[in-house]
Amino acid sequence: MRAIALFSGGLDSVLAMKLIVDQGIEVIAVNINTGFGSTNDRLEHIKNMCEQIGAKLEILDLRKEFLDEVLFDPKYGYGKNFNPCIDCHGFMFRYAGKLLKKYDASFMISGEVVGQRPMSQRKDAMMQVQKLSDYDELIVRPLCAKLMPKSKPEIEGWIDREKLLDINGRTRTRQLELAKEIGLENFEAPAGGCLLTEIQFSQRIRDFVEHGHMEVDDINTLKAGRHLRLPDGAKLIIGRNEEDNDKLFATKSLKYLKARIIDASGPFCLFEKNASQKDKELAANIIVTYGKTEPDKIYEVNFQEYILEGQKFPTKNELQKYFILG
Ligand code: SF4
Repeated sequence: MRAIALFSGGLDSVLAMKLIVDQGIEVIAVNINTGFGSTNDRLEHIKNMCEQIGAKLEILDLRKEFLDEVLFDPKYGYGKNFNPCIDCHGFMFRYAGKLLKKYDASFMISGEVVGQRPMSQRKDAMMQVQKLSDYDELIVRPLCAKLMPKSKPEIEGWIDREKLLDINGRTRTRQLELAKEIGLENFEAPAGGCLLTEIQFSQRIRDFVEHGHMEVDDINTLKAGRHLRLPDGAKLIIGRNEEDNDKLFATKSLKYLKARIIDASGPFCLFEKNASQKDKELAANIIVTYGKTEPDKIYEVNFQEYILEGQKFPTKNELQKYFILG
């Protein structure tokens, strides 16, 4: 008997897998990369968790599918920000379900807990997720299974319902006790979380889709730098540090020109290709303002396809109106 687990890397999903592994069932941990979570940042952590409980790891890159099928038209709407959690969970189960055949697995599990999250982990929302998934009766939530209707794996006796749990609500006391009992180490991952739940990042997405169509390559550019929308609509992204600069430099998006001051040091920037002359000149001045530059001097900025002169603004305060903020 095998099971496919939706595996975020968080403690709840690790414990859910452990409860099933302990019933002698092989678990394939599927981590789904939507582009907005922390798959890449936490890869070592994710591997380590799987090793500790003896699950095989599979990472699915579903960034394109997530943009095409979920992010902009969720059947059950959004949470507080741009997070379409109910549809997202349904989507994850739907794609994880496609692996049932590949692994000759019989059912799916996740670490969801009733009442833990306001949008997607209410009991009714969890039932909606099942409907969206196409695998309604094959989904088990081991941490709160006793509070849910019986699933097929329980009815059929593939797993013992008595060994599943009835955890409910937001406190994590029982999860922490369980982690201690099984001797799980380093289970609290550094940082992480889904950017779609963050107000400022959600605002960047809203602004982006007001001005164009989002593709996979745009996801990374949204994650790095300061984002400005200039008066005629061109987007300017300014790296804040070396990490941002590296991320922006690595973009494969064809929507942007890479820009940098020629005769002084300054941040790495991306600037939208089809900008008006007015926005181009403003962008040059802004880029010079964020460089190590002097107020009364003229600098050249290289925009790959053209070079423009720019001059530092007296203060950065007057640029605030261009910032895309939450
Ligand atoms: S927070 Fe919501 S949108 Fe983000 S990964 Fe989780 S379920 Fe999906």
